[in-house]
Amino acid sequence: MKITEVRLGRISVPLRVPFKTALRSVSSVEDVIVEVHTDTGAVGYGEAPPTGAITGDTTGAIVGALQDHIIKTVVGRDVDGFEDLMLALDKCIVKNTSAKAAMDMALWDLYGQLYHIPVYKLLGGSRKQIVTDITISVNDPEEMARDTVNAVQRGYDTLKVKVGADPSLDVARLSAVRQAAGPDIRIRIDANQGWQPKQAVRILNQMQERGLDIEFVEQPVKAHDFTGLKYVTERSYVPVLADESVFSPADALTIMQMGAADLVNIKLMKCGGIYNALKIASAAEVYGVECMIGCMLEAKISVNAAVHLACAKQIITKIDLDGPVLCSEDPILGGAVFDEQNITVSDDPGLGIHGVQGIRYL
Ligand SMILES: [Mg+2]
Repeated sequence: MKITEVRLGRISVPLRVPFKTALRSVSSVEDVIVEVHTDTGAVGYGEAPPTGAITGDTTGAIVGALQDHIIKTVVGRDVDGFEDLMLALDKCIVKNTSAKAAMDMALWDLYGQLYHIPVYKLLGGSRKQIVTDITISVNDPEEMARDTVNAVQRGYDTLKVKVGADPSLDVARLSAVRQAAGPDIRIRIDANQGWQPKQAVRILNQMQERGLDIEFVEQPVKAHDFTGLKYVTERSYVPVLADESVFSPADALTIMQMGAADLVNIKLMKCGGIYNALKIASAAEVYGVECMIGCMLEAKISVNAAVHLACAKQIITKIDLDGPVLCSEDPILGGAVFDEQNITVSDDPGLGIHGVQGIRYL
């Protein structure tokens, strides 16, 4: 199966409501789509969202990395030489993890199609269903309470609440969410780097003293501040998950060796795809550090790739793949079925994507 051509396009998918975190506010998913064509007629699909505030990858940067480096590297190669292909992809340009992730997943899609096996089974997995949390955006406490009631009515039993935009209000926000959710709903929070280390410890311990029962906190401090992260991890009663601090497998290893976090968040857009995500998962298995799998504001192609990985690896115990359910429509044909919090992986070969409606080809 030889790669003959790569076509790039874009899709726009409106969100149900604006997505607001300590870093940004967004009202639609605007992603780059990668279609990898082969001489057998098989097509592999990939997707990358521009998340300049997190990865530094803009739409122009993703398209440029693909056109100038990545596409030239893969066209003409055989999908059956998969390890060679993965190493060449990793080496052809530094950083640019979103563009690499889009190509990586399209190649896994083709490799699975070549051997007629779904990717999660190719990776040894047997789990067919996973349960995702849903994000509650950072707003005033009353609006967050309303969003909480709405999410619980939609059947979600785990909420991921965004905090950190205005630290003086965070305890009040969380109190409103806990009151609206009741005692049985699991609540995890994400500060998106919004706190200073000492401030984080104070806020988290206040939350616990008030009985707000936080499952864990994501990225309380700045991404580069591994020492600050470790400070919070050692002093807070709330477990700490490293998200923006962990891009590469090397970052993950450093965090684990330092004991700087209790948990690690794997996102394909940060690490450059499934090939590198597997290395983070392996390191986590060695260190006994459980992982979350997360996504950016992504439509179903790339989140579906993350679903395959999550269904394959038992060390991934926390699922934060709510991109598709935050969208008001789904232009992707095939792939996993997203029924609110329940996600069921597809048994079609590869990643099981059959097409995308409304692609604007570049
Ligand atoms: Mg996060």
